[in-house]
Amino acid sequence: EISETVVFKSHNAFNRNAPLPAGAIQTIAKLYQTKKDLTDALNPRIHTRSTIGERIRQNAKDPDAKKAALEDAKVLKAEITELEQKLLEVEDRMFHLALAVPNDTHPDTPIGPESTAVTLSEYGPPPIPASPSRDHVSVGRTLKLLDLEAGATVTGSSWYYLLNEGALLEMALTNYALSIATKHGFTPVTTPDVIRADIAYRCGYQARDPQGETPASQMYHIANTTARDTTGGSPSSPELVLAGTAEIPLAGMFANKIFLPQELPAKIVGLGRAFRAEAGARGTDTRGLYRVHQFTKLELFVVSTQDQSEAMMEELRSVQTEIYSGLGLTFRVLDMPTEELGASAYRKYDMEAWMPGRARWGEISSTSNCTDYQARRLHIRYRRPVSLPSDTTVQEQQSKSPSLPFVHTLNGTAAAIPRLIVALLENGARFDDAGEVVGINLPKILRPFWVDGRNRTLV
Ligand code: AMP
Repeated sequence: EISETVVFKSHNAFNRNAPLPAGAIQTIAKLYQTKKDLTDALNPRIHTRSTIGERIRQNAKDPDAKKAALEDAKVLKAEITELEQKLLEVEDRMFHLALAVPNDTHPDTPIGPESTAVTLSEYGPPPIPASPSRDHVSVGRTLKLLDLEAGATVTGSSWYYLLNEGALLEMALTNYALSIATKHGFTPVTTPDVIRADIAYRCGYQARDPQGETPASQMYHIANTTARDTTGGSPSSPELVLAGTAEIPLAGMFANKIFLPQELPAKIVGLGRAFRAEAGARGTDTRGLYRVHQFTKLELFVVSTQDQSEAMMEELRSVQTEIYSGLGLTFRVLDMPTEELGASAYRKYDMEAWMPGRARWGEISSTSNCTDYQARRLHIRYRRPVSLPSDTTVQEQQSKSPSLPFVHTLNGTAAAIPRLIVALLENGARFDDAGEVVGINLPKILRPFWVDGRNRTLV
């Protein structure tokens, strides 16, 4: 059975292009066997040690027998210390490697790189012709909706200011998406944007390189925090990082929790700022607002039972479809292939909107079913429903429910603000007869969310 699992997990890690050391799964299986052997050797010795005090006492009047018992106790103590030490080392190596193993993969997921993604559905009007005059940077500059130069002066490239209706648009989009999420029963939450590196790691985000030595380049580290443990320890002074997504503080919020069946599925919509170092990003993606270092993101998050998660994935997709259809966007849903799943996703749907100024489709949202990957690492479980009489109290229910399976967690973007602004500016730009941009046709659905009367660019 173990060798079957090794083959299955190795194959899965290979398909996902997971950054695992060569032969890692086989090594985990061997370490697991060694752990079992050590435990088998340790347990009878621990049992004997528990009886040896009595043996010494019984032989109190027989010096030779007492001496032999004391001698046995000494040998036993040395053996137990050595075995326990070995066991700790083996467990440490095993868990370190096991934490790097990616989640299993949905059987329908396409196998391969990004180009093998499968389009599941398309929404909205047909794509309008691509045109450089629709580029969101020139449209935004002309209409004074954004300032990239001030961002570069004050922080650096790919930092930005939104101005005038640009700033109002961020707030209107956030509240519009929030209104749809809450209508569908998602509870609003605002999250901390500074988080412990080990919580990010437990959610499947690498805060350090695989050896744990240098900070991974995709996350901003807060320099004056000291601890180095990102792999599951509980450092007294934890290393802190800036959250790349509210998914991490939302999952972390439930660490060590045991849900009751009636609390699931728990549906949350979290508002946070996402910080991305985006090291190595180049080319057209880094122009303007498309790939920036900080952005406001409204995130859908679900905790469910194992049986509910596939249906919840479809519910997330339908809420997102409602949000983006309401904005009149031309967009499509993709079933993402194995090499795009990262460590935690069992299945991932990306949505891409047509961006005519960029002359390409651009990702506006990403939705993942992480099954029990994050729950195992964060110890989030639930009591299986049992049929008890209706007058059973919560306390009785807790004591009578037998097993504590891990929950499933899911996350999906409700609104990644800069990408939505890119899509709205590029599709909605309005030109005069001379071809000068004079405004943006914004969707009327945003009007109730506009906080002041300024409507220079609104139709
Ligand atoms: P991810 O968590 O990487 O799947 O990102 C979720 C969504 O955030 C993506 O679908 C994009 O819409 C948006 N996004 C990701 N990275 C950036 C970035 N650097 N700048 C702006 N938006 C981003």
